[in-house]
Amino acid sequence: MTHHAHKTSPNTNCLEGWHCPDCHSWGPFTVEVTTYVLLWDDGSDLSSDHGSHEYDDASVAICQACGKHATVGDFHHEEV
Ligand SMILES: [Zn+2]
Repeated sequence: MTHHAHKTSPNTNCLEGWHCPDCHSWGPFTVEVTTYVLLWDDGSDLSSDHGSHEYDDASVAICQACGKHATVGDFHHEEV
């Protein structure tokens, strides 16, 4: 899968509905996530795939194109 530096069309996959409120970039965006790891008595298993990345509308997102800091809720809105 190829990643383009700057998207020029609406997102249809992981970033569906995402849109910078300032410069109207389609992304990519940096998102603050909470990471969960499986913690054992002898340490956490960071090499496994059991961890998950969680974010919600209150998490902070940053536009790569203009540096806009806003909540995910501000970035993730439907077209009007
Ligand atoms: Zn922007």
